[in-house]
Amino acid sequence: MSARTGILLLVSGPSGSGKTTLCRRLADEKEAHYSISCTTRPPREGEVHGVDYHFLDRKDFQQRIDAGDFLEHAEVHQNHYGTLRSEVLDFLAKGIDVVMDIDVQGAEQVRHCSNVDIQAALVDLFVMPPSEQELKARLVGRGTDQDNIIALRMENALEEMTHWTEYTYRIVSATREEDYRKFKALLVAERLKISRLTK
Ligand code: 5GP
Repeated sequence: MSARTGILLLVSGPSGSGKTTLCRRLADEKEAHYSISCTTRPPREGEVHGVDYHFLDRKDFQQRIDAGDFLEHAEVHQNHYGTLRSEVLDFLAKGIDVVMDIDVQGAEQVRHCSNVDIQAALVDLFVMPPSEQELKARLVGRGTDQDNIIALRMENALEEMTHWTEYTYRIVSATREEDYRKFKALLVAERLKISRLTK
C-alpha cells in the first residue's frame, strides 16, 4: 500500500514549448504514468498507436464521448483530443502519479471536474517558450509539419499563451536539463504535501 494518493500533474503550453518532452521523460524515468490521450489527428512519422496516442477515427471518438469514457475532451488544431478516465483514476487511487499533456481547454475542464479525487490530486503547470522567435524556430525545426500547419500552430500558440495566468505554476523554458530539473522539483515538493498522505 502506498502512503499517499497520486498526483495528477497537468501540463499545458503551446506546441514547441517542450512540454511533451518533459512529460515523456518523467514517465521514462518511472516517476509517473503518462496518460495516453485519444486523438483523431493522423499519426506523425514515428508515432505509435497505444504509445504516443490512441489514434481513433471521428466515429470511434464520438462513441467514446457517448459512452462517457473521457475525463475531458476538446478540439485543438481542427482535431479532437481526449483523456480517458481509465488512464487516470485507477492510477491515482493506487498512489501512482499521473502526468498529462493537455491543452488549455482540457485543463479548464479538469479544473472544474466535480470528482473529489481529481480535485485533491490536481497540480497544474504552464510551460512557456522563452520568446516568440524561439517558438517559431522550434516549430519549424521539428520538421514534422507542413508550412500551413506550422502557421496554424503558431497562431494557436500565441492565443494559448494568453492563458498562463490560469495555472498555479509556470516554467519559462530554458535548456532541456534546466526545465526538467524544475519540473521534477515541483513533483518532488508536491509529494510532500500532508493532505496527500494516507498514513
Ligand atoms: P499534438 O498534436 O502536437 O500532439 O498536440 C496538440 C495539442 O493537443 C497539444 O497542446 C496537447 O497538449 C493537446 N493534447 C494532447 N492530448 C490531449 C488531451 O487528451 N486533451 C486535450 N484537451 N488536449 C490534448
